[in-house]
Amino acid sequence: MGAVGTVLKKIVPSSVIRHKLGVKNSILFTFDDGPKPGITPEILDVLDKYNAKAVFFVPSANIHKAPELLNEVLDRGHILGNHGHSHTPCSELSYQEIVDEINQCKQMIFEQTGFTTTLFRPPCGIVTPALLLAARKTKHAIFKWSLDTGEYSYLLRAPADKLAENFIQKIHDSAIVLSHDTFGEIPKLVDIVAPQMQAKGYNLSNAVEQWR
Ligand SMILES: [Zn+2]
Repeated sequence: MGAVGTVLKKIVPSSVIRHKLGVKNSILFTFDDGPKPGITPEILDVLDKYNAKAVFFVPSANIHKAPELLNEVLDRGHILGNHGHSHTPCSELSYQEIVDEINQCKQMIFEQTGFTTTLFRPPCGIVTPALLLAARKTKHAIFKWSLDTGEYSYLLRAPADKLAENFIQKIHDSAIVLSHDTFGEIPKLVDIVAPQMQAKGYNLSNAVEQWR
């Protein structure tokens, strides 16, 4: 991080960047980059089937594609997260631009739903010193993950059974799972892994309560 990063580490508590849950025997699914008609509703149905509650991180430039789905996410017991407006990685933005991205997304989600976001998922997972300051300024926690289901990275566009095999091998207690409600295999993935996680005793619904 360099000298600036060292100073930031002293003034910003490490708890502002979250990789895992502070709750035991629990797993949290998170879905980025929607809303996507056809896929987001299918994920909502699968989550209902297992009474699982998730966080949907929405870039506000996407809201117009299906604004009513944001309301449905909340109506069905999930919460919304802030994913910036334009999905530009923070490494390409100044401090003020990051503040503006977070505030614009927060405002647009609020106008559509009345929900106030407090969690920020950095586009592409990139955290910079400027983001640490911008997150503090906008009162958002930086919400990363401990398990990436891989459909846009190391298992690019893999079928659900392959994604599930990898998930089951890597899942751990207090995991924050990164996935995307823009990829058609994800509803099937959740349908395969959710009952197996519940059989192992993991709670798939309690983690979101703290951010309502
Ligand atoms: Zn994203």
